[in-house]
Amino acid sequence: MNVTIMRQVKFCAGHRLVGHEGKCANLHGHNYLAQFFVSGGEFDEVGRVVDFSVINRLFKGWIDENWDHGILAWDEDSELLEALGHLQPSKVFCLPYNPTAENIAKYLLTEVGPGLVEQIEGYDIQLTKVVVWETENACAELSINDAESTIAPRLHSGHAET
Ligand SMILES: [Zn+2]
Repeated sequence: MNVTIMRQVKFCAGHRLVGHEGKCANLHGHNYLAQFFVSGGEFDEVGRVVDFSVINRLFKGWIDENWDHGILAWDEDSELLEALGHLQPSKVFCLPYNPTAENIAKYLLTEVGPGLVEQIEGYDIQLTKVVVWETENACAELSINDAESTIAPRLHSGHAET
């Protein structure tokens, strides 16, 4: 038996999409919602895959520290990084690809998640899927099976207009 639980985390962040054909090329922000799906094959003595608060503490903690009220920038967007370098304070987090909802989900699933789940001792659980809502109408979903195939950075992804 494999059971999956989900805990969601809200955060605010700014970004711009290099190569976007429209308004998303401008620096702007979103109220993001990231959903973390954690799967396990066994319940603990209380009857849980893992307590929701453990997932929240780790993932919300990481996001609050690194992303919330900051700018998510592609590390090749030198123009943006140069401009932000003039601001104090300036909370900037560089991603190795354009900060689309798809790539933000990919980064959480493949770069951030494994290290956080590893910190949960005594549980045989895995982060199996991340969904990033950029607006209430638009989200990107990535599961580990998808992530194992190479996802080429795409300049023109399904970024939400509203
Ligand atoms: Zn946007």
